[in-house]
Amino acid sequence: MDQLEQSIRQIVEQVVKGISQEKNHNTGSGNVGIGVFNNLNSAVEAADKAYRDFCEVSLETRKLIIENMRKISMEHKEVMAKMAHEETGMGRWSDKVVKNELGIVKTPGVEDIHPEAFSDDRGLTLVEKAPYGVIGSITPSTNPAVTIISNAIGMIAAGNSVVFNPHPSAKKTSCFVVSLLNKAIIDAGGPANLLTCISEPTIDSAKEMMAHKKIAILVVTGGPAVVKTAMNSGKKTIGAGPGNPPCVVDETADIAQAGRDIVAGASFDNNVICICEKEILCVASVADKLKEEMKKNGAYELTPDQIKKVTALVISEPGRPGHEGAANKKYVGKNANYIAKDIGLDLPDSTRLLLCEVDKDHPLVWTEQLMPVMPLVRVKDVDEAINLAVEVEHGFRHTAIMHSLNIAKLSKMAKVMNCSIFIKNGPSYAGLGAGGAGFASFTIASPTGDGVTRPRSFTRERRCTLVDYLRII
Ligand code: NAD
Repeated sequence: MDQLEQSIRQIVEQVVKGISQEKNHNTGSGNVGIGVFNNLNSAVEAADKAYRDFCEVSLETRKLIIENMRKISMEHKEVMAKMAHEETGMGRWSDKVVKNELGIVKTPGVEDIHPEAFSDDRGLTLVEKAPYGVIGSITPSTNPAVTIISNAIGMIAAGNSVVFNPHPSAKKTSCFVVSLLNKAIIDAGGPANLLTCISEPTIDSAKEMMAHKKIAILVVTGGPAVVKTAMNSGKKTIGAGPGNPPCVVDETADIAQAGRDIVAGASFDNNVICICEKEILCVASVADKLKEEMKKNGAYELTPDQIKKVTALVISEPGRPGHEGAANKKYVGKNANYIAKDIGLDLPDSTRLLLCEVDKDHPLVWTEQLMPVMPLVRVKDVDEAINLAVEVEHGFRHTAIMHSLNIAKLSKMAKVMNCSIFIKNGPSYAGLGAGGAGFASFTIASPTGDGVTRPRSFTRERRCTLVDYLRII
């Protein structure tokens, strides 16, 4: 164990010990922190009780709870980043710190659920956003800490309690985050177990959660299988599934900026975020210049022979038109030089991206890889690029990016992609509010149409009408 791992372990042990000693609020046994249970039913029952208690808590206290959740998360953003990196082996911990900070600071709070009023000759109608109750949330291995933080802030701001079934390969980090946030909630005057999770999550426990009668709605963040299973459960589902974001660059773009932005976005946390640029479709006349600019910013271009070898390593099931394929999990989220090493190529750790020029039918283009291997396809003009972008996105309607100064083509691509997020002239993460306007979320629900989720996504509308009176004009 190296020094870094040892110091993370020490910090985590101290925090978990502190939380457990302070108060054991659990009803289950064998717990390792507040809200962490050894079976799903106990986690749901505790969250159900917490929800009922939370209904009695004032909005002012709810605001203080959210504030304290942000505060404690900020204090532990680095520990959580290191834990997630150590446990999953994915990403770069320093990027995860930035990712955590984004979710902590920019996930909206109680202000997002303001009421609406209608007044006319026939009186006054009030529309309020009410909680669903106990939400069942399934979270991924790729963004384990920040998905829980951002979901927890949004769902609690909306008045719900939450049971998390985290990814089995991120269970320690996830249990730690749930414990930590529960401590913040209790310290700010909220009930215990507003957030719960199970210490040994499995696909079976996820299925048990989907069928549990006390789970009001499901919020599922992950690959195609889990989203499909949840949508077939019979419960209302907010499903955040996979993407394969194309990035189009045309001849009018600021190519120096495009090169810089693409490397920054596509290499962020080694490309594990669903919104990261996954393939570049570049107009031929500027392709050489774009590659040069990308190389200036940390990309390394592979030869055709090296591309063949890398493809054999990283693609388990080749994607193609109409078929999304699958990447080799062994390489998901790994550093570029780790992947390069396995084809006998020594590169420094500072290499951000492996750039691969390929033709349009290549599996690297059609498979969501979630790693810093970036295919680039040369196309004759911007219309061909946009048409190809629609196809390679597989109809996920998730995210797309374009670098162009031609407003007609920017508008055309925005329209035909029909995605939850479309980023113009910036790195993909600008679409999550990092260097772009707007709020953050790590649950982008394209299959169910909820888009970039926020507190109001986790509410049900209720209306109250008083006939003929209470207008003030
Ligand atoms: P994954 O699908 O392997 O796992 C996600 C969660 O679903 C885990 O908790 C897992 O245990 C559970 N699960 C998986 N299959 C299941 C099944 N058949 N029944 C019940 N539960 C099941 O995903 P991952 O590898 O952790 O994450 C990467 C994937 O998630 C990528 O495809 C990425 O695009 C997607 N993702 C999407 C968003 C978004 O906001 N749209 C955000 C993050 C990740």
